[in-house]
Amino acid sequence: MVSKGGRNFQTNVRDTEGLDIDDFIDNYEVGKKACFGCPIHCKHVWHIKTGEMAGLTGIGLEFNAAGALHFMAECEDWETIMAFYDGCNRFGLDVASASAYIAILMELYDRKIITKSDTGGLAYDWGSRDAILGFLEQTTKREHIGDVMANGLLKAADVLGHDMMQYVVHSKGLTIEARDLRSHKGQLLGEVVSSRGGDHLRGRFTIEDFHLPPKVTESLYGKPVPSDPRSYKGKAWPTVWTERLCAVVDSVGICKFASKWMSPGLLGPEDMAESFTAVTGIQKTAEDIMIDGDRIYTLEKLFNAREGISRKDDKVPDRYHEPLKYGPYKGENIDEQKFQVLLDEYYELSGLDSDGIPLPESIERLDLNTMDDLESMVTENTDI
Ligand code: SF4
Repeated sequence: MVSKGGRNFQTNVRDTEGLDIDDFIDNYEVGKKACFGCPIHCKHVWHIKTGEMAGLTGIGLEFNAAGALHFMAECEDWETIMAFYDGCNRFGLDVASASAYIAILMELYDRKIITKSDTGGLAYDWGSRDAILGFLEQTTKREHIGDVMANGLLKAADVLGHDMMQYVVHSKGLTIEARDLRSHKGQLLGEVVSSRGGDHLRGRFTIEDFHLPPKVTESLYGKPVPSDPRSYKGKAWPTVWTERLCAVVDSVGICKFASKWMSPGLLGPEDMAESFTAVTGIQKTAEDIMIDGDRIYTLEKLFNAREGISRKDDKVPDRYHEPLKYGPYKGENIDEQKFQVLLDEYYELSGLDSDGIPLPESIERLDLNTMDDLESMVTENTDI
């Protein structure tokens, strides 16, 4: 089981007092909902019956929001989390990033890097309901620290000082989830190299959590993967495989929760090929599906190359070099040298050069060389 990032990843396990999933189910859940046609019904419908928030109803909660507020920001109160979650949905804020921003601000406040003069008088104490709901209001109204953070982490650092980024667990300016991935090298690789920054829905090798025997992973990925999440070995290929699968899952409009991103028994390339062929009449094999995924992801890397994004941005968060303090993976951290070897392996398997830029032969193999604007999508340091 992956640890959770307590106190904005300053620690990884802490006692929890007020937050219990049974409390949520017993006292707030009033039903379940699903997206159109989905049999899974993963969405809780909740309602607050009493107290100052009585009458509030919503749907959720997504783990990365509840996890970030609870573990990272030490919120021990379901109603604050529900109100924040609902407000983010209503005002169009990315709830996972917004929750993580609150934990980051709480650490900056603790360290006196920000003060009440930055926050419009709000005390960003750990777990504070006023800070959590105040941040929501200030961000949507573009006031005080909410206005600064609404521009994103990298621009916020221009205002608050770039030293703050040492306390931020992110990739390419997008926060990495509330789960602490120092111990799970494959999953971390997927988030670090993700084309849009810290993102568990691209190449995160979720199945690493299952500790499957190499024989089973070989039947899934075509290559065995060590079952120990701490191992750096063999983790590049399942990351590449997952990126390709997820690119196709997104393109055909299937939910990740129904795919092998989530669990080995769910939909994989063979199922995508069969459905695609049945719906369109165009014959596709599982292999074709993964080539399509490769093409989509390589195109994303080309977009990134155009924007100057390369190996320097596939970077492990500073905090992940510190050891985990507690739990079964106590002492585990990221060894930068070993991670760079893993990154090289990932680039090679992805058809990228040593700087993370698609190779000319990859572009040709995937028929991307016919794009009119290809030249504008690669930086001048490539030889295409
Ligand atoms: S599993 Fe996916 S498609 Fe189904 S209800 Fe949940 S989010 Fe919607």
